[in-house]
Amino acid sequence: MDPDRLGEKSDAIQQRLTFVLQAIKQASTQPTLLSEALEELSIMIEELHQQREELALTQQSLALEHQRYQDLFEFAPDGYLVTTMQGVIQEANQMAATLLNIQSQFLVGKPLVAFVAETDRQAFCNQLNQLIRGKPLTWKHRDDQSEPWRGALPMQDWEIHLQPRGDPPPFPAAVAFSTVCDPQGKWIGLRCLIRDITEQKQAEAAIHRALAEAKDLNDLKSRFIQTVSHEFRTPLSIIRTAADLLEHFGPQVSEEKERQYFQAIRDAVTYATQLFDDILIFNKAEAGKLPFNPQPLDLVTFCQQVVEEQRLSAGDRQAIRFTKTAESIPACLDEQLLHQILSNLLSNARKYSPEGGEVCFELTCQNNQAIFRVQDHGIGIPPADQPYLFEPFHRAQNVDHRPGTGLGLAIVKKAVDLHGGAIALESQVGMGATFTVTLPLASTV
Ligand code: ATP
Ligand code: MG
Repeated sequence: MDPDRLGEKSDAIQQRLTFVLQAIKQASTQPTLLSEALEELSIMIEELHQQREELALTQQSLALEHQRYQDLFEFAPDGYLVTTMQGVIQEANQMAATLLNIQSQFLVGKPLVAFVAETDRQAFCNQLNQLIRGKPLTWKHRDDQSEPWRGALPMQDWEIHLQPRGDPPPFPAAVAFSTVCDPQGKWIGLRCLIRDITEQKQAEAAIHRALAEAKDLNDLKSRFIQTVSHEFRTPLSIIRTAADLLEHFGPQVSEEKERQYFQAIRDAVTYATQLFDDILIFNKAEAGKLPFNPQPLDLVTFCQQVVEEQRLSAGDRQAIRFTKTAESIPACLDEQLLHQILSNLLSNARKYSPEGGEVCFELTCQNNQAIFRVQDHGIGIPPADQPYLFEPFHRAQNVDHRPGTGLGLAIVKKAVDLHGGAIALESQVGMGATFTVTLPLASTV
């Protein structure tokens, strides 16, 4: 029942009672008043009964309402705590107990900070201090920030790591604080809503990763287009110039010059074809579609063939000194990939060395592993570039005008990985570089 109505009714009963008492006093002089008083009394009793029933109903519905709120508190899907202004827990619901891995009755009396992960504890204490001094951190909606806050505080949302009791690791939580006020608006405690945001954080991290991957892919695409279009321009313009010269001055040029022009065209075509091949191989490797077919082969014979190919294409610019520790080393590796590895390392060694230098190529075999070592005495690789050499399109800052796309070593790395091998680099600027590739003799990966 409405408390105002209850008050009105008891006032009315009070008035009637006064009237009845007066009537009883005057009954000896005015006997009719007595019977009126008795009638009034019986009405009063009737009304009192009625009121008692209404009161009982009101109490019942209040109890139901209380139970409903208690259930809402108890079985809320989020952790819910009520603390003193100093953050000492006074009430806790089941979800809070589950999140903090402790029975709710043991939560009562403990400071909330005891469940904040070590890493966040100091920041949490500072924030709580600010809040209880009436200077919450969220001030967006207030102009005057010098005065402490009065009345109920708007919800304060913090993100902290909570540390459950026992073994479970800390978890990220969104914690929302609001103040509990007495009827005069004075703060008497804090309400604290706790939500486990582990999944939300994981989803955020996944989105960040996906965005970073998309950005990497985009960067790779633009580097690809930039490098490839630049690199193709060189052989194409050589072909065009040589063809123009032959067309316009064909009859006047000497045989020797004509031979040189044709050779330039052939070299440019070879270079462009090699470029195409590298791009196709790298593309396949990136898509995880690089075929891997280990076949039995003799490593000594294979290395000698690669060295011979290099000699033919390099001419006498650099000598390649091949040494081996045995006359025959049987192995089971992928010939095409091994060819990529060795020819890229040898051609780099030559490209980045001065004319007339010597490239040492050494083949050894140890603990069922083949070790290929390619050493030159060329320009070397600056330390700042070394960590990125196996990334596609990365070229060191000291390459000057030497042609290249920066794809060779990325392909080498993929081929080595497919064999389950490893590649190492030692280099000092101006002193040369040594690449060492170690592959299991029988690759089954
Ligand atoms: P290409 O794709 O035509 O091989 P590239 O030689 O520039 O082009 P990579 O073989 O991937 O590309 O080598 C990457 C970079 O590593 C080179 O640009 C160069 O800066 C550096 N590098 C590789 N090998 C050597 C070496 N032996 N000496 C000095 N620098 C080297
Ligand atoms: Mg190269």
